Amino acid sequence: MTFKLEKSGGFIKLSGNIDESIDLASSLDLYGTLFFDVGEVTGINSIGTLKMIRLIERKAGLSIQFYKCSSVFKFLISYVALKFGSIKASKIFSSLLLDYNCPQCGEEKQVLVETRRLGNIPAQFSLPQEGCPTCQFIMQTTEDAEELIESFSQGE
Ligand SMILES: [Zn+2]
Repeated sequence: MTFKLEKSGGFIKLSGNIDESIDLASSLDLYGTLFFDVGEVTGINSIGTLKMIRLIERKAGLSIQFYKCSSVFKFLISYVALKFGSIKASKIFSSLLLDYNCPQCGEEKQVLVETRRLGNIPAQFSLPQEGCPTCQFIMQTTEDAEELIESFSQGE
């Protein structure tokens, strides 16, 4: 799936694969706060990651908020949490999409978690418990999800 950028309802919606072809500077006015909806991003390669990071680093008059971050954004999140001690990942990444699956029947779903709140409850936060929509069994999430949540509580 190729990369696509569209503006809708105050959000800049990114979808598909973020790679070297991404050119945000020429498609966007880079000032104020940019709200990115990245729920339909299916992949991100190293050059795509670099380009997104350069945008985050561009501090003068620009702030960035990412919504609906799926696990492909883990890379970015870890980097931001590691590199910018003063910028908390929870301030840039506003919500995460966590993947859940049912060990009983194999049903899969994604659960949106607001991460603004995570910053306030770092140590004791536990992943949301989700019941399977098909068989009501308690669903499991990936180990990735726990790491993701951890990267939000670090650096508080
Ligand atoms: Zn099930």
